[in-house]
Amino acid sequence: MLEVSNVRAGYGAINVLWDVSLTVARGQLTTIIGPNGAGKTTLLRAIMGLLPVSQGEVKLNGKTLSGTPTWKMADVSLAMIPEGRMTFRDMSVEENLIMGAFPKQHRARVQENLEKSYQMFPRLSERRRQLAGSLSGGEAQMLAMARGLMADPQLLIIDEPSLGLAPVLVNELFEILARLKEGGRTIVLVEQNTHRAVAVADHVYLMQSGKVVLSQPANEVSLDHLHDLYFAR
Ligand code: ATP
Repeated sequence: MLEVSNVRAGYGAINVLWDVSLTVARGQLTTIIGPNGAGKTTLLRAIMGLLPVSQGEVKLNGKTLSGTPTWKMADVSLAMIPEGRMTFRDMSVEENLIMGAFPKQHRARVQENLEKSYQMFPRLSERRRQLAGSLSGGEAQMLAMARGLMADPQLLIIDEPSLGLAPVLVNELFEILARLKEGGRTIVLVEQNTHRAVAVADHVYLMQSGKVVLSQPANEVSLDHLHDLYFAR
């Protein structure tokens, strides 16, 4: 579904990604792991058109995305849940969810998708009138994910959702990711929580210093080998 070929990108004169290639198959959960500064978020930004790609290209369903403005990404059915959640703090939980269905073609299905969100995230249902700014870290992460799903994206990209969450909420989060995968959703998950990410994934990419250094089906990944690569510089 998503094809990234030989992408180079960076910030101004500083290049961060060096010929990065990866593919994301429909209905699969693909995880991108790697140490701090490996370039994972930069790669997601390049995919989303938030950073210009100086070489290579990004294709979704065979069509090139390069040059598509980020605000149009929802129209091409791609949603990103950024690190740090970025909910609208002064709006209620429900208003935040409705904002997720902003692209025109999704508005007709707002009610239906709200009901689906509340089924998947019952805690948000209880808190639907509460201001998003008053949610706990875990609840805010659930809200960010539910909001991303409101537009029914073909591809959901999630950046470090477990960051800063208490262990019990990390468990809940990974259960939800597993359920989304079972429901056929295509997901790209960037994570620092390597063991959990590999356990839920179908395919694993490891990034190191702006390059992909490992690409393997999750069930073939050796955690020892991963550990060695992770700390090799
Ligand atoms: P983390 O897990 O810490 O978020 P990451 O793998 O997502 O790490 P990136 O955030 O993509 O890594 O950062 C990759 C490199 O790009 C780092 O060396 C970082 O310092 C640099 N970088 C990130 N954002 C900028 C920016 N806005 N301007 C200049 N350099 C940046």
